Amino acid sequence: MSKIALVTGGSRGIGAAISVALKEAGYTVAANYAGNDEAAAKFTAETGIKTYKWSVADYDACAAGIAQVEADLGPVSVLVNNAGITRDAMFHRMTRQQWQEVMDTNLNGLFNMTHPLWTGMRDRKFGRVINISSINGQKGQAGQANYSAAKAGDLGFTKALAQEGARAGITVNAICPGYIGTEMVMAVPEKVRESIIAQIPVGRLGEATEIARCVVFLASDDAGFITGSTISANGGQFVV
Ligand code: NDP
Repeated sequence: MSKIALVTGGSRGIGAAISVALKEAGYTVAANYAGNDEAAAKFTAETGIKTYKWSVADYDACAAGIAQVEADLGPVSVLVNNAGITRDAMFHRMTRQQWQEVMDTNLNGLFNMTHPLWTGMRDRKFGRVINISSINGQKGQAGQANYSAAKAGDLGFTKALAQEGARAGITVNAICPGYIGTEMVMAVPEKVRESIIAQIPVGRLGEATEIARCVVFLASDDAGFITGSTISANGGQFVV
């Protein structure tokens, strides 16, 4: 079985940690990114991870990008749908653009990336699809109606696709991180961050590597009987 992994948003934050952990576990890794932070992509490339720029919000770009990855590296057996954005606003102030951008990347991106790979995984009778959702898709978060809706949608997608993939040797699982100390979280004002940490029973933010290790496990043969599941990695903040 080919050990080719494709990680969306794999150039920085949680995605970079996932790319590095998969590489250390013996995978050849392609890290996709959007192009907002070329320095991060360059840094990731310097670690021996091939980087590819396209938007997961664009179906045709995904199909073309995946074709390029497979031409360069071989058939993708592990897809990590990690790319995500926030466009936070209280709902009475939320614009259609803020709603749409989050849907396009955080929910439609999963269709756009998984659909072009699905037939190949079925034909080869093996695949691992790992979707990075969020604690806020499980519990809802004020100021994030768009993000919470998209991330909850990711969980429905995971459960439905797991049923379709099971007989074809494809597992589909989700990880719901709690608050992880990436740029996305460090960008919120310090006071807000302190109040977030106060709500986490273990008393700290999570580390990106702690999410990455969950991904490596779900990608491994050891996780072959796990499909349609959600791993909540949130320091005890929300117990499902
Ligand atoms: P970052 O903002 O640190 O990194 C986001 C990554 O996604 C970057 O590589 C970025 O590329 C890429 N990206 C963004 N939009 C697109 C797009 N349209 N197409 C392709 N790539 C894109 O995010 P985090 O590491 O914090 O988050 C990663 C995932 O984990 C997200 O899905 C997020 O929702 C989820 N999550 C994060 C939590 C946290 O506490 N940080 C908590 C729960 C869930 P570029 O550099 O070019 O912009």
